[in-house]
Amino acid sequence: MKTDKFVRYGKRKISYAVQRANRRTMEIAVLPDGHVTVKAPLKAKASKVAAKVLKRARWILRQQAYFSKFNPRTPSRIYCPGETHLYLGRPYRLRVHATKCERVVLGRGMILVETKGEPKRGLVRAAMQDWYRAKAYQVFDEVISKYYPRLGLGKILRPRLHVRRVSKRWGSLAPSGTLTLNLDLIRAPKICIEYVVAHELCHLHHADHGKAFYARLVEMMPDWKIRKERLERALI
Ligand SMILES: [Zn+2]
Repeated sequence: MKTDKFVRYGKRKISYAVQRANRRTMEIAVLPDGHVTVKAPLKAKASKVAAKVLKRARWILRQQAYFSKFNPRTPSRIYCPGETHLYLGRPYRLRVHATKCERVVLGRGMILVETKGEPKRGLVRAAMQDWYRAKAYQVFDEVISKYYPRLGLGKILRPRLHVRRVSKRWGSLAPSGTLTLNLDLIRAPKICIEYVVAHELCHLHHADHGKAFYARLVEMMPDWKIRKERLERALI
């Protein structure tokens, strides 16, 4: 696909491909690999197509950011000193240190990983993963404790928490009563974690995403849409 056209949006450049078709309206799509396509009427002027792309620029960038999270080409962390890692939406600079015991300490703007012996990447990575997992269980459980009582279901139905690294979902609720949350969520701002938890908890009342489900979600969290959008931009 030839993405030979582009518009500028602030400092960003948005490239796109135009597909002409016998149609009356324009339709913009962002593909999972980040490419932008515009289906346009045969006679639509190039300037009109560009204006349309510009008008949707914010949405396009948001979609691209969302997909980039799942894109394996996104450089992954290599656990070297100086690298930035996120925790609850804030960036922390990684420092490593060889010492007698193994621990991870969060300081102002930095995350210190201490390892027994030489702080090799594998050790640093393992220590951080353990730390992230422990924090995830702690923080997610607090969030469930905050939102679950609002459903008025009594203690019995409170779901069991399970934290896993899953590639394409933030959370899911099994009929067995297990709430699975994505480990990566611990890197997102707390308001986003709350959104995912509230969404999943609402499934205790409504299994589908029908009107009643969203009514319940709005009642529990009136600003859920803002939180959801924030989450889509948070973890790039
Ligand atoms: Zn859902």
